[in-house]
Amino acid sequence: MSYTFDMDEILKKLDRRRNDSARDLRERREALYEKLPEIKEIDDELRNGTLMAIRKKVKGTGNDIAFLAELEKRNSELSEKKKNILIKNGYDENYLERRYVCNLCKDEGYIGNEKCKCLKQLIVEARYLESNISDRLEQENFSTFDMSYYRQERLEDEKVSPYENIQNILAKSKEFIKKFGDTSQNIIIFGETGRGKTFLTNCIAKEILDEGHSVFYLTAGGMVEDVINGYLFRRNEEEYDDKEKKARYEFLFNADLLIIDDLGTESVNRQSVTQLFRVVNDRIISGKSTIISSNLDIKGIKENYTERFAGRIAENYDFFNIFGANIRMVKKKRLLERH
Ligand SMILES: [Zn+2]
Repeated sequence: MSYTFDMDEILKKLDRRRNDSARDLRERREALYEKLPEIKEIDDELRNGTLMAIRKKVKGTGNDIAFLAELEKRNSELSEKKKNILIKNGYDENYLERRYVCNLCKDEGYIGNEKCKCLKQLIVEARYLESNISDRLEQENFSTFDMSYYRQERLEDEKVSPYENIQNILAKSKEFIKKFGDTSQNIIIFGETGRGKTFLTNCIAKEILDEGHSVFYLTAGGMVEDVINGYLFRRNEEEYDDKEKKARYEFLFNADLLIIDDLGTESVNRQSVTQLFRVVNDRIISGKSTIISSNLDIKGIKENYTERFAGRIAENYDFFNIFGANIRMVKKKRLLERH
């Protein structure tokens, strides 16, 4: 990831939009003046009227009601005349107005003190890039979640069928999304490889991002080796990408939602366990939400990590247990049957 969220960059983008629309208008106007000089004459006259009004105001005679009424009448006549010339020559009557990307806020980004929806959209786009999973979310989201991979029959040793189980989990996931931001919530998704754990986390991540929150997705291995060791044990203080490394490291702690995928598949040592615990524990204390997926169960986590780590998870996380057939195998089988 070579990108971290930067509000200044977003505001600069709005700046550029405003400059572009101003330049675009200038260019169109100049070209039109050459083609239709009568438009320029009208604009000059309109400008003179305005100047006259300003001059009168400066002199203290600006409250001349008769003059202002006359000026207003003249302006509207001139504007009408201008409009007719434009239309007669095949132009839109608004041809000499600025064209904004967003007409609601005129590319200011704010309406009063409120963020305009265009600014919110830019923030969401930047959050997508920063999340590490932006390229997957178009394919992997709730609208593409395929329930048919989950068996509807319940086996004797199952409390519910895999289908019923995933239905419950989806309902709880939607509850998580609804409450996100109001309350601290954590989820650990247990299940063997190929049960749809990562797919589910992607579904949740997309909804959270679309609300404008920040999300940071990492595999447990990537998190430890790349982000944590890459920052804490970097060789050279002057490394050009230190700022980026620092930002990513800090993002582990301050992202609104952190997703640690595939816990248990990374290489584990005392150092990595300590770092992992620090991230998870810190986020619990600061009330930030985390989702972990793992092919281990809580007993496995206790064995592979520490009792303390497993304890923090058990106390602070909701358990989602996904079971049923291996989706990758079902997909393969379906593909073979089709050919
Ligand atoms: Zn706007």
